[in-house]
Amino acid sequence: MKRVLVSGGSGFLGSHLCEKLLNEGNEVLCVDNLFTGRKDNIHHLLDHKNFEFMRHDITFPLYVEVDEIYNLACPASPIHYQFDPVQTIKTSVLGAINMLGLAKRLKVKILQASTSEIYGDPEVHPQPENYKGCVNTIGIRACYDEGKRCAETLFFDYNRQHKLTIKVMRIFNTYGPRMHPNDGRVVSNFIIQALMGRDITIFGTGQQTRSFCYVDDNIEGMYKLMNSRDGFAGPVNIGNPCEFTMLDLAEKIIDLTGSNSKLVFMPLPQDDPMQRKPCIELAKKELNWEPKINIDEGLIKTVSYFERILSKNKIIIND
Ligand code: NAD
Ligand code: UDP
Ligand code: UDP
Repeated sequence: MKRVLVSGGSGFLGSHLCEKLLNEGNEVLCVDNLFTGRKDNIHHLLDHKNFEFMRHDITFPLYVEVDEIYNLACPASPIHYQFDPVQTIKTSVLGAINMLGLAKRLKVKILQASTSEIYGDPEVHPQPENYKGCVNTIGIRACYDEGKRCAETLFFDYNRQHKLTIKVMRIFNTYGPRMHPNDGRVVSNFIIQALMGRDITIFGTGQQTRSFCYVDDNIEGMYKLMNSRDGFAGPVNIGNPCEFTMLDLAEKIIDLTGSNSKLVFMPLPQDDPMQRKPCIELAKKELNWEPKINIDEGLIKTVSYFERILSKNKIIIND
């Protein structure tokens, strides 16, 4: 039995990963400072004999004994990562150094949850892993994008300099149950607005595109990457290449929920990428992975989740 550390384990993706790892017969040490993560996300795991939660901020050193590390700690939505940008970049950079230092001392494999944001506002479409990106170093998204870019650099330097086994995953927009209801991401915003009969907020013209991957597909890809052949470090894109404009997405969600919400147009945030779509040829070849859940199926599951938590009055939705 392996003891696996998941930093950011009580967040959206982290909580699904903890479940998957427990189901595969591992012990899980979930390390999280609960900045955007919630105890509710892991409530059902707290009594599991192989699950342990530790409240800790990874910008500080961590001395534990584990056999494998998934480094997911970092707020992922623009509202959350721009709330305290200095802490965001510290989490990516100091957090990576501490997790890599831990992996180096223990001589264990470590996976980094990187992001499509390292491509910035891409001039190449779809984005293959060898595209180097177009990021504004001084914009409001840079604390996240540049922090994640620096973390990738650290991972590859620890790999070259200290012979550490690393796996780097570039995650494209992922959605599903346990997304934070107030994190302002487009899928959760549109679903909650549609369910509550509020106006659907389209930023800009709504012609910008994103490619949305359902959480179960993401976690399968993450697990396959961690267990991929020795010598394969990535970086590898994990996302669903089905691309939609934000207007398409709003229409889909209105249809699925039978909502009578209206669209309202609001200013486009600074540096908002115009288009994004992963090239997933490398993931297909190296991991034998591709997404299985289409957008309609994934949205139906996500809508049911938000219906459930709204009906239980378990959350307060910001205006
Ligand atoms: P999330 O905000 O739900 O989860 C992040 C978790 O990290 C939270 O539980 C939070 O409390 C914790 N955390 C933040 N700072 C920390 C710190 N300093 N120390 C310890 N814990 C800390 O976000 P998510 O969507 O689950 O994202 C998980 C990872 O995947 C992140 O690294 C994110 O950058 C990456 N990612 C996610 C997406 C996506 O679409 N969800 C896309 C690209 C990359
Ligand atoms: N570190 C940690 N846990 C460990 C080992 C290291 O948190 O089990 C941290 C430690 O604080 C250090 C960082 O990881 O600053 C980087 O470790 P490394 O060994 O690469 O660097 P050094 O200790 O030589 O600065
Ligand atoms: N967006 C929108 N309305 C919202 C929230 C987001 O039109 O209520 C847009 C946002 O401007 C961006 C896209 O949806 O173009 C995806 O935003 P999200 O924050 O989910 O992810 P990211 O920009 O990090 O890809």
